[in-house]
Amino acid sequence: MGQPRPATPTNPPMHRRHFLSDLTRTAALCAVVPNIWRVRSRVSFADDPFSLGVASGDITPTGGILWTRLAPRPLEPDGGLSGPRPVVNWEVADDDNFRKIVKSGRATAGSELSYSVHVDVDGLEPNRWYWYRFSTAGATGATSPIGRLRTAPADGVMQPLSFAFASCQHYEQGLYTAHDHLSREEIDFVAFLGDYIYEGGAANGVVRPHFGLEIRTLDDYRRRYAQYKTDKMLQAAHALCPWLSIWDDHEVDNNYAGVHGENSMESEEQMRLRRAAGYQAWWEHQPVRVPRAKSWADLTITRSINWGAMANFWMLDTRQYRDAQACNQGSDKVPCGKWNDPARTLMGTAQEKWLLDGIGASKAHWQVLANQVMMAPYDSARGPDTTVSMDQWSGYPVARDRLLHGLEQRAKNRTVVITGDIHSNWVNELASDFSHPDRPIVGAEFVTTSITSGGDGAATVPANALAVIAENKHIKWHNRQRGYVKCDVTADGWNADYRVVPYVTRAGAPVETAARWHVAHGKAGIQKV
Ligand code: FE
Ligand code: CA
Repeated sequence: MGQPRPATPTNPPMHRRHFLSDLTRTAALCAVVPNIWRVRSRVSFADDPFSLGVASGDITPTGGILWTRLAPRPLEPDGGLSGPRPVVNWEVADDDNFRKIVKSGRATAGSELSYSVHVDVDGLEPNRWYWYRFSTAGATGATSPIGRLRTAPADGVMQPLSFAFASCQHYEQGLYTAHDHLSREEIDFVAFLGDYIYEGGAANGVVRPHFGLEIRTLDDYRRRYAQYKTDKMLQAAHALCPWLSIWDDHEVDNNYAGVHGENSMESEEQMRLRRAAGYQAWWEHQPVRVPRAKSWADLTITRSINWGAMANFWMLDTRQYRDAQACNQGSDKVPCGKWNDPARTLMGTAQEKWLLDGIGASKAHWQVLANQVMMAPYDSARGPDTTVSMDQWSGYPVARDRLLHGLEQRAKNRTVVITGDIHSNWVNELASDFSHPDRPIVGAEFVTTSITSGGDGAATVPANALAVIAENKHIKWHNRQRGYVKCDVTADGWNADYRVVPYVTRAGAPVETAARWHVAHGKAGIQKV
């Protein structure tokens, strides 16, 4: 934590330092460029331009991404902005009073990226907290809320880690009470595993309706992100700490696979354009550092993020590169169709190789796969028949077992898979090969429920469902409430606290720990604490 220090003459506020150069540049540009390309340091806003809050993410030992988006009227096209390109100042401070500014700079916000700002700040000290904010210059300038950034430990440093992971925040189906509780946790970062938005049009009889019809165009997706991000409890969870984000299906289209949409009538060209719109809008609204792509339709989000020597997080994409689902959409009795064709993959060949090569070369104590869909199979048919979900790893069994074999060879019982997607909590032991019973356990999977998706949920699971689940010996626990998972990771072991709220369709739900599960480093199995 930083100590408050007095301001020094070497750190004047940004708007004073750059005021003259702004005037010169603006005057020079005005003569030759159309109005939309003009840079203005002193645009004034009738409404708060920081209505969508701030965020940080994708940390390194010396920095991270700082994010905001100017949107004085969030549901209007371009967030209610047009014309000049405002200059946004950013500051990183040692303390929450901003007495000592350690880094600062300026960025322009333009309509081509929905007036979003991504600052890749570097040169900070490892393993500590910083505070950041944005402002627009001038007498009528506005200042953003303050967010917190925590840098990662230096390479090789064994620093314990506390983090939370979450997914699935359908705006219509509940209030973000779980985010309200999450924003009070003592954690270093949040891993968000997808379904940040949902693409459907406004529904009837919901807690709070979506604005507009099903989203397809870039402007549609932008407005949907803006609507979600107006939520103050979501903003508080972002302000608390950095986030590491990946997308799932609903950032584009329910259960899409590669260029195959939910609606099988949709052409490949239509799906590529929809991906381009959805992927660009996702990037514009997330504090992420991902490689530039030739086309937004091909944006790559796979990346690894280190927490010193303690843990390596592999941020995966199981949507963009997957083969089409085998057999029926949803669940099906197996074997069927091309279900167990060895050529079918969930991550794509390149990502699979990148992941296993990376884990093989990594010296990190724990390997963490931040992943969208459940890796452990769930056979939902009672008795000898086997029925599994075609949308999860169980729909791609050869690829799953190939990966699990690879993990057994490289990081046996020090690999944890964290998963979202299915709006319920699961604790699963991962075997090296689910096609053959009684193979050794090689890792643990913790599946988080939704923040809101599915509505209130239920504290009890019906007896017939429990009976089916009990036939899946590797599944240790299942729960159907809303919430998130908080993890405490040390060299010896990993605790996962399943934090749940009893309802989300009305305000004020308390939070409680429904269960705590423990993985001992290097030992097979998951124990209830
Ligand atoms: Fe979801
Ligand atoms: Ca999903």
